[in-house]
Amino acid sequence: MPIENFSCPYCGSGHLHEIHQVSEMMFGTGELFKYAECQNCGSLALTEVPQDLAAYYPASYYSLQPLVESSFGKNLLKKIRYDVFRISGKEKIKPVFGDWFSRIKPSKSAKIADIGCGNGQLLYELYAAGFCYLRGYDPFMEKEQHFGKKLVLSKKDVFEIQEKFDLIMMHHALEHMESPKKILEQCSKLLNPQGWLLVRLPVADAKVWADEGVNWVQLDPPRHLHIPSTKGLKQLGTESGLVCKEVVFDSSTFQFWGTELVKNKRPLHGVIPEEAFSRQDLAMWRKKALLYNKKSVGDQACFYFYKA
Ligand SMILES: [Zn+2]
Repeated sequence: MPIENFSCPYCGSGHLHEIHQVSEMMFGTGELFKYAECQNCGSLALTEVPQDLAAYYPASYYSLQPLVESSFGKNLLKKIRYDVFRISGKEKIKPVFGDWFSRIKPSKSAKIADIGCGNGQLLYELYAAGFCYLRGYDPFMEKEQHFGKKLVLSKKDVFEIQEKFDLIMMHHALEHMESPKKILEQCSKLLNPQGWLLVRLPVADAKVWADEGVNWVQLDPPRHLHIPSTKGLKQLGTESGLVCKEVVFDSSTFQFWGTELVKNKRPLHGVIPEEAFSRQDLAMWRKKALLYNKKSVGDQACFYFYKA
């Protein structure tokens, strides 16, 4: 996208607020990229997408670790645990998908897809919890995998999907894909009436972005092709025939310790925060992240859309 032809990938505005020059952060290569900031909605977009994006996803970056299966007995416990959680809502036994599923309340027979599913671990946890129609898609996965008829992982992108779903999830995937408008429209097409689309991703509403600018860790150029504001993504959802029921901020300590590393010009890859930072710092950042989420200024959020 030449800068003079700027068009916000989220709200469509041609009004550019500013161009930000940002260094590659994950591996500290020093390569520079530019993000355009939309004057209307505050979303960010790379001004030029590299031709060979795959080169920025070395095996060590991408979650190519194989899916970890658990024993029959352990899966039975996971199922019981989720069934008890569903009734009691007890925080202590909440599974990794507990927050999202408490809001959406899908039935165990709901057709569920995870787009950009990586190794499919999340879907496997749902399979263990007793969900019986799970499909994962990721064009970068090594090979197709079947767990009976209940869970199938396919090497496909969103435009190759043929069937319809009651719930589609995208966890930190949309910002890695070109043309969010086409993707949201496709997801809308793939949803059954009253179906849900759950989108989790970094958002430009982040206070860390306002405070720390180009050192904000979740810019992550050039892998993050665009980062919406909540206003921008809501608008795009509406245009795609979706209603935004809720936006829940779910940022973590990463926004602080990651940004701290970027400021100190330390590459992020392979850093274990518990080793790089003190317990006190991490505890303080945990509190701060909760506060930022409460005030809707955390650096990532979960959008709950449904098909009207
Ligand atoms: Zn915009």
